[in-house]
Amino acid sequence: MSDARLYDTLRKVFGFRAFRPNQEQVVRAILASQDVFAVMPTGGGKSLCYQLPAVLLPGTCIVISPLIALMKDQVDGARANGIRAAFLNSSLLSDDREAVMRDLLSNSLDLLYVAPERFTLDHFREILGRVKISMAVIDEAHCISEWGHDFRPDYLSLSALVKLFPGLPVAAFTATATHRVQQDILDKLALRNPLVVRASFDRPNLGYDVRFKDNPEAQLVSLLKSNPGKAGIIYRTSRKSVSDTAAMLQAKGFRALPYHAGLSDADRKSNQEAFIRDEADVIVATIAFGMGIDKSNIRFVIHADLPKSIENYYQETGRAGRDGEPAQCTLLFAQSDIPKVRFYIDSMPDDTERARALGALTKVIAFAGNSVCRRRTLLDYFGESYPHSNCNSCDICLGTREVVDCTREAQMLLSAMVRTEERFGAMHIVDIVMGSDNKKIRDFGHDRLKTFGVGKEHEKKYWRQLIDDLLAQKVIEKSEGLYPTLFLLPKAVQLLKGEERIEIVRIQEKKKAKAPLLKSDVSSSPYNQELFDLLRTLRKQIADEGGIPPYVVFSDRTLHDMAAQYPRTAETMLTVSGVGEVKLERYGRQFLRLIDRFCSDRLHSPSP
Ligand code: ADP
Ligand code: ZN
Repeated sequence: MSDARLYDTLRKVFGFRAFRPNQEQVVRAILASQDVFAVMPTGGGKSLCYQLPAVLLPGTCIVISPLIALMKDQVDGARANGIRAAFLNSSLLSDDREAVMRDLLSNSLDLLYVAPERFTLDHFREILGRVKISMAVIDEAHCISEWGHDFRPDYLSLSALVKLFPGLPVAAFTATATHRVQQDILDKLALRNPLVVRASFDRPNLGYDVRFKDNPEAQLVSLLKSNPGKAGIIYRTSRKSVSDTAAMLQAKGFRALPYHAGLSDADRKSNQEAFIRDEADVIVATIAFGMGIDKSNIRFVIHADLPKSIENYYQETGRAGRDGEPAQCTLLFAQSDIPKVRFYIDSMPDDTERARALGALTKVIAFAGNSVCRRRTLLDYFGESYPHSNCNSCDICLGTREVVDCTREAQMLLSAMVRTEERFGAMHIVDIVMGSDNKKIRDFGHDRLKTFGVGKEHEKKYWRQLIDDLLAQKVIEKSEGLYPTLFLLPKAVQLLKGEERIEIVRIQEKKKAKAPLLKSDVSSSPYNQELFDLLRTLRKQIADEGGIPPYVVFSDRTLHDMAAQYPRTAETMLTVSGVGEVKLERYGRQFLRLIDRFCSDRLHSPSP
């Protein structure tokens, strides 16, 4: 394959000037008929790795994909670029199914997406035998592994795939990263001398921060206010907290919708659709949400409760910023969330499961509680070492936290615990040091203690957080049971004697934090927000008319580029990232007209 033809297709069909890391290598291997196994993070650009060869090679590329919703999205996306794509699954009406079959049999499809169970049907295999196939692709290949998080039994039938396509390349893709899952996939698929690509799992356009969760409602409202009109996901653990949070946000005027397994299929579907179509900005969801989502313009993901594992956290936050534009991932964390999760884990009947869940939880707590770069910690989990000392885009590296010596304050709390014989819980101990006047304090005569009111200068939140820190640093421990009391560990005694000091990491709330330096993969220049908003409205209109999601028309990245470069001609429009020939022909005129009008309005309007 000549370089010219490869790059020409990349430009004309997809509207891209350059490959992203690893794409070219994968494309070339497939074109040379080699099997491929590629682990690439979400947003890494996996689809292009097979869609480009599918356009170049004669015959139909069969893509096995686990989710019906994803198939439709992928097909819409491919078609928007003028690729002849279709899908076959149980959601199709029989007329539509027959039309797809006709296209397949007349060799007029570049891409056919199918669900895995179709491969167990003799009838389907027989049909495949009658058409020219170019290659086979297994998307979300980790579904074949029991070690992964979305194991799908029907994926096991895909181990027979290489035998079904002798002489044709088979390419498997996944964004799931652990080495154990990788090996399992390789074993099960039995690829023939494959090119194995393991991309970096770093998502440079994502920023990470962890905040002390003290008032989640107010914190969520303030986070949404600082992201007006932007698309985001808020993850919560329980159905009830999802419903409550969504209702609270709606009452405050946000375009938020709930998503959890307790809703009817119809409600779930319509809420998801509203989010995909930019009609709702925020989706509040349990982890049931996300697998079938290809929406590329998600600008923030907030975890208002603890994620189950680092792997889950990475997958869930990974849904942000697929288009390569900056996006923010925030975790609200309080030690007091841990007992709930512990309770759930402790009730697991299976010993191995329980041990695994506990191990995963411990790692999440370490991630949230320590003061190491978040990005480094995440990458470390996937066995990748981050090469820089400062990522410039997490709360730790941006220095929005500081280490403070809290020995004196810790001594106040410990002393209050000693003087009350370690028989009380956190709330009461805080009341003592703060000198609160309430019945329980008076009944026990705790207003006469020497430590009563010694810590008036700090707020309740400060003391609660300090107790969290003391628990995390194993200075004190909490008893089991319904009314847990605090008791001292050996380190506490040394602290009280002044033989040990305690340092904790605090978020600097007063000082304005440095703005994160988020790197998109092409340095995105400043753009005109007003024009961007107009372009977005036009995109939404066009999407609605065509019955496709807005990001399928153009990504946020593409609109940003337009709002920075002000293309006024078809030629300059083609230099915008994401504008290929088909999209130029379909949508170019409308966008050019809008930009033209915008520019001349500004030229003629008197300057303010
Ligand atoms: P994945 O499936 O790996 O999560 P996608 O295939 O959905 O990623 O691609 C993510 C985004 O990146 C899409 O918006 C896509 O258009 C864009 N993209 C892919 N390849 C390139 C490229 N070479 N240059 C610019 N953008 C790209
Ligand atoms: Zn960092």
